[in-house]
Amino acid sequence: MSNLNPSISDLQQAVRNVPDFPKPGIQFKDITPLLANGRLFAKCIDQLCGDFKPGDVDAVVGIDARGFIFAAAAALKLQCGFVPVRKQGKLPFTTYEESYDLEYGSNTIAIHTDSIRHGSRVLLIDDLLATGGTAGAAAELLKKVGANILEITFFIELSFLNGREKLQGFPVRSLVVY
Ligand code: AMP
Repeated sequence: MSNLNPSISDLQQAVRNVPDFPKPGIQFKDITPLLANGRLFAKCIDQLCGDFKPGDVDAVVGIDARGFIFAAAAALKLQCGFVPVRKQGKLPFTTYEESYDLEYGSNTIAIHTDSIRHGSRVLLIDDLLATGGTAGAAAELLKKVGANILEITFFIELSFLNGREKLQGFPVRSLVVY
């Protein structure tokens, strides 16, 4: 790794593959080694922000929980607000909710109804795109608050799970694709 300017491949190499977590057959992409390295973390945030500059974006929206880490840092870089999409039951004020199917059962996520002004330009960020259920539901929440989604951005995309199919109509970008 070049000390001053890590590459995307350096970012990828800092992701630890943990087999059979949280259950057999899943290969978990553990981002904690990357986060622990300041230079790699900073590079990752730069790349997630892409060509967006301060003034281009009104809010960066992050998805519970690892998405918060990237989205909050990106919001600081873009000098705009940060808005959390959380798991059901965690947000204290009035919320919109959206459910999506999992392999077994379903999940519900929520956003505060007053979190984003109608027409605001938002960037939706999560750590990883797998089946697309989570990000698809988050995009639906953003439609409910009237946000204008500029881009949905992921650090990692597991392309063999075809998550992009659930995000049709939105610009989607990911840094590391498996
Ligand atoms: P999905 O809704 O299937 O696209 O799943 C995406 C969400 O689940 C993201 O918020 C990820 O943090 C998490 N996730 C799914 N699969 C993995 C994986 N293999 N490694 C790490 N996180 C994952």
